[in-house]
Amino acid sequence: MLFDILTLFPSMFEGVFSDSIIRRAVDKGLATIELHNIRDYSDDLRHKTVDDYPYGGDAGMLLKPEPLAKALNDAKVRHKAHSPCVIYLSPQGELLNQDVVNSLLECQSLILLCGRYKGVDQRIIDRYVDREVSIGDFVLSGGELPAMVLIDALVRLIPGVLGNRDSAETDSLYNGLLSHPEYTRPEVFEGMQVPPVLLSGHHANIRLWQKEQAERITKEKRPDLWARYTSSKVSDK
Ligand code: SAM
Repeated sequence: MLFDILTLFPSMFEGVFSDSIIRRAVDKGLATIELHNIRDYSDDLRHKTVDDYPYGGDAGMLLKPEPLAKALNDAKVRHKAHSPCVIYLSPQGELLNQDVVNSLLECQSLILLCGRYKGVDQRIIDRYVDREVSIGDFVLSGGELPAMVLIDALVRLIPGVLGNRDSAETDSLYNGLLSHPEYTRPEVFEGMQVPPVLLSGHHANIRLWQKEQAERITKEKRPDLWARYTSSKVSDK
């Protein structure tokens, strides 16, 4: 999967992409991540200006359309062979959840536009953006952290990236439920015992216990997910 990130702060990504699973995906050739500084597309060769005052007198600055259009056209040419999807990380976008992640996984190539300041000129969204994605109902200072969140959520699902050790299939939300509780050694920690069924070696009983726990936890912690899960089970029948 190809990711092109358009940002004013490429160095923010260095630490996050240089370790662990994203690094592994890149090293295995399963993900390619390219960072592009929006300032490199400024017409202002001297100051590299990319922002200006918004019309209407609002406080703050807005990313100008021309450098963004150039950066996006450039990215589209680079990704031409893979019909890229352009995503603007925005608090106004569809809320990121596992369904959105799964739907984006079908794209071979994503161009991620990270806003800053008051955001981007609306004409860029109207002309160039395919989807707007929000990571939650709160406002961050820029789209860089949301882009990292989205890439992490996607990369771990690319076949071949996760080994058995950190498989996604038993994670929360994979099958619409939260995950069952997990335990490791020692068997007794501060007086608390690992549930005996997990030590029984009886695989069918263990699976049953895990399913019951996942259902209980989802019902308790996320009644909204539980309602969705049960209604999808009814409509499956
Ligand atoms: N004025 C914009 C608004 O009210 O919709 C918010 C601008 S915000 C301060 C600056 C940038 O941060 C946005 O352009 C966007 O790229 C990013 N951003 C902020 N919150 C976000 C969120 N919840 N999800 C995704 N991106 C976000």
